[in-house]
Amino acid sequence: MTNNHFDIFVIGTGPGGYIAALKAAQMGARTAVVEKHHLGGTCLNYGCIPSKALLSSAEMLHNVQHAGTWGVTVDGKIGFDWKKITTHKNRVLRQLRGGIAGLFKGRCVTHLQGCGTFDSAGRIVVTPEDGTPQAVTADKVIVATGSVPMRIPDWPDDPAVCTSDEAVHWATLPKKLLIVGGGVIGCEFACMMQAFGVDVTVVEMLPNLLPTLDHDLGKALMAIFKKRGITCYLDTKVEEVDVASGSGAVKTRLRGGESLQFDRVLVATGRRPNTNELGLNNAGIQTDSHGFVPVNDQMETNVPGHYCIGDANGRCMLAHAASAHGVAAVENALGHPKAFDSPIPSAVYTFPEVAAVGLSEQEAKEQGLPIAIGRFPIGHLGKAMAARHPDGFVKMIRHRETGQLIGAHMIGQNATECIAAATALLHQKVSMHDVAETVWAHPTISEAIKESAEDALCMGLHLPPRKIIRATVGG
Ligand code: FAD
Ligand code: NAD
Repeated sequence: MTNNHFDIFVIGTGPGGYIAALKAAQMGARTAVVEKHHLGGTCLNYGCIPSKALLSSAEMLHNVQHAGTWGVTVDGKIGFDWKKITTHKNRVLRQLRGGIAGLFKGRCVTHLQGCGTFDSAGRIVVTPEDGTPQAVTADKVIVATGSVPMRIPDWPDDPAVCTSDEAVHWATLPKKLLIVGGGVIGCEFACMMQAFGVDVTVVEMLPNLLPTLDHDLGKALMAIFKKRGITCYLDTKVEEVDVASGSGAVKTRLRGGESLQFDRVLVATGRRPNTNELGLNNAGIQTDSHGFVPVNDQMETNVPGHYCIGDANGRCMLAHAASAHGVAAVENALGHPKAFDSPIPSAVYTFPEVAAVGLSEQEAKEQGLPIAIGRFPIGHLGKAMAARHPDGFVKMIRHRETGQLIGAHMIGQNATECIAAATALLHQKVSMHDVAETVWAHPTISEAIKESAEDALCMGLHLPPRKIIRATVGG
């Protein structure tokens, strides 16, 4: 074995790549990673972590502004210090990048800085920003190069027309912001920016906010946004964006003809795989028409011993999915064959939070499954009333023939934490009876999971009998 040969070589150090590298090293493989930018990928540098750091201040500000609801008096002007907020965010990012570097060191993972491109199968050329390219070879290669924001080609290349890459690091806030796309990024930013006093408009081309989730969630969030003064256009596209040079004004025209002016636009219309400069052709690795690398349930590409995980394989664009793919790819690469079929929860960090796992009502119906739906309003819970967070509901979906839990959907305080319980239950393939018979701590928001499971079985005690009769008739 030469110094430039590894058992496992990982390209990219996002939550997919860095976890894959640590897992490989833990399993005794001689492991290296290459990263062309900061350690931690999109998640740590432009995604999950910076956005949640900003959202935590936004939510605190929102709560302080509504402190009177809790009987708490705040004297004087309520404001915020953007510099302090962004300094905290940047400190957290540095700390976590350092953490990954430390973990690599602790497990003897070789970390190469530079851009990795395939020369041939099993052979990668690493080109540092300034330095001489070097070739490395490996028995097994894991592509974990993630994704980048989609931009709209005809729109101006101007600092006022941004993607989340810029938005998570804005030095100043806009006064009037257009968010194009009411998906996850669009909704999290709308919620955050409104709390910071920005006048926010969201334009979504489909009939719902968060259209990939159960439609009831997007509808409930939309009603909350409306109350807060966030303007939402659904079923609408932005036809034209024009930046009048030097004016700081972005003129837009919506489908239907309406003209609106903003000082900044955030394009949040999805992400594309970061695979086009990887030289995948040289290794014979196929991509689909969008550039995603198709993989089987072992995360293996069409070229044996070459795996692709996380955003780049197009299965699910979430950080925890990337990490789970990474572990699965390494186990398969190192001779422990296992198919990856775990349910993956979604968590949206608006306030209130939104979370889901398993099939939505729409997906279950599209698949022709016989289902029964249970629902429970969070506002009926003692904890929600006491804590003054009454908004939201839990919706559980049961397969009527097998009796199994097949989906859980929630909006409300702590939904992103509560979804963990539903995910564990779904992973264990439990019946709705198992969910209802589990003892849930009181008073908690997670009690709504039990209550909606009971409702799906027509066994609810905290809902009026009328509701129970309807559920029986509805199946
Ligand atoms: P990435 O994190 O994209 O990492 C890929 C890495 O590969 C990058 O560091 C890149 O520099 C490197 N790379 C690419 N090409 C090369 C090359 N040729 N050579 C060397 N290095 C290369 N997900 C959640 O689960 N929860 C959230 O709350 C959440 N919030 C988000 C908020 C925002 C604003 C955004 C944009 C995304 C968010 N996501 C969230 C999604 C999450 O960030 C991604 O799903 C996740 O980062 C994907 O991980 P990955 O390892 O596949 O790729
Ligand atoms: P998304 O797919 O969630 O939403 C994009 C939205 O834009 C869709 O609703 C789509 O209908 C809409 N759209 C597309 N083109 C449009 C147009 N021309 N005009 C109006 N609307 C248009 O993508 P995103 O919000 O950009 O997020 C990218 C990825 O990052 C997602 O896969 C998401 O899972 C991930 N992410 C996750 C989290 C989280 O887990 N909390 C947070 C942020 C991002």
